[in-house]
Amino acid sequence: MKMEQIWGQACAKLEKTVGPNNFNHWIKPLRLIAVEDGVASFDSPTRFISDWVNRHFASDIMVELSRFGSAVERLRFDIGAARPTPVAANESRPQPARPQSGRHSRGMTARPDLGAPLDPRFTFSNFVVGKPNELAHAAARRVAEGGPVGFNPLFLYGGVGLGKTHLMHAIAHDYQTRHPAAEVLYLSAEQFMYRFVQALRESTIMDFKGMFRNVNMLMVDDVQFIAGKDSTQEEFFHTFNALVDQGKQIVISADRAPAEIKGLEERIKSRLSCGLIVDLHPTTYELRLGILQSKTEVFRAQHPDLEMGAGVLEFLAHRITTNVRVLEGALQRLFAHASLLRREITLDVAQECLADILRTNDRKISIDDIQRKVAEHYNIRLADMMGPKRVRTVARPRQIAMYLSKQLTSRSLPEIGRRFGGRDHTTIMHGVRKIEELASTDHALAEDIALLKRLLEA
Ligand code: ADP
Ligand code: MG
Repeated sequence: MKMEQIWGQACAKLEKTVGPNNFNHWIKPLRLIAVEDGVASFDSPTRFISDWVNRHFASDIMVELSRFGSAVERLRFDIGAARPTPVAANESRPQPARPQSGRHSRGMTARPDLGAPLDPRFTFSNFVVGKPNELAHAAARRVAEGGPVGFNPLFLYGGVGLGKTHLMHAIAHDYQTRHPAAEVLYLSAEQFMYRFVQALRESTIMDFKGMFRNVNMLMVDDVQFIAGKDSTQEEFFHTFNALVDQGKQIVISADRAPAEIKGLEERIKSRLSCGLIVDLHPTTYELRLGILQSKTEVFRAQHPDLEMGAGVLEFLAHRITTNVRVLEGALQRLFAHASLLRREITLDVAQECLADILRTNDRKISIDDIQRKVAEHYNIRLADMMGPKRVRTVARPRQIAMYLSKQLTSRSLPEIGRRFGGRDHTTIMHGVRKIEELASTDHALAEDIALLKRLLEA
């Protein structure tokens, strides 16, 4: 019998003995190469997997393999020669030229056993830098260099689809290239929690803790997810402290600044604030156009015969302002559409093909939305937005709402005045000026306003 067949049959049994979760995580990545003189040899993608298997499942595996003939008494592992880890769910998306070589070209996963796979397209070379993201990009570059750590943790935050995950993967790719022996662990906060809960359930919490000990760089994406989840936060805090104390690099992302994450413990917030906190600002027209141009080159390479009319990219950059993911999706759809119909991509084609996306992007922010969000944020009653109260705790949020109404809607000052309980347009003007003035010196207020804008534009 061939090795593949033997291993196939053994696996069917092992999946039942160790359970599908364990099987998929630990045993499935292995490939049986030979059974000789009582020793079964495997290819394993990482040392971590083979150590784990040896400690936990060796006897199960030996029992199963012994059924096929002579007794197996020992397992042996070769590291790194195993098949590549597939990049989850990305297969169907267009793949630009992959700049990396060697281990990276196979869709590198720093720790396939523990973390999430890294998207090979999310590299620094594919990241378009502009005013809104230049600081975050520079910080990411610096952290990727490794060396004596200056920014620990690096905390990246910003709205949906602005490139947080892209930058994190880029750091991992780049860092791994510079430090091939280092262990980089990238996972979402959700995965962190899932693994933690699983370890609790299976009483393997010591192993869970151990997993993080040898990591050189830990990256946790979308950390706002663990807000309010107390024991996960607790565990995260300990992992985090242990790694920082050992001088290991930590990179974290969230959809808002640490101080704005409700339900996140104070001590975590303050620990996060010890590092560098940088935000990705909403995209500008120039950045969106730059991104579109760079993505278009990739599509062009795949569809060399497609023609693109003048002004199409400018039109998209102007009209699709929410986030880069939507922008990318629009471009992708446009190319698919045009290549099916073998038509030149003109402005008309773009308008017709993207009608739904363009419509949702036209969704106007209303003064109602603004008043409601601001009232909620500052914990005042919605009625106080229109009412006469003049105490600072009410008047200031009201002025912020006036300011945002002026900024985010096309309403005139008198119109805004009417919506704020029939106030005069000079009152509105005064409010708007006041906030502009305060925000230029009061950093916390400026942050508040940025957050509210993001929430409203999301
Ligand atoms: P986030 O994690 O902030 O929600 P992602 O990193 O997933 O956003 O980005 C969404 C999509 O937009 C990804 O496909 C990413 O490659 C792309 N993207 C975002 N910002 C940029 C940029 N500056 N240059 C190139 N692509 C970008
Ligand atoms: Mg993300």
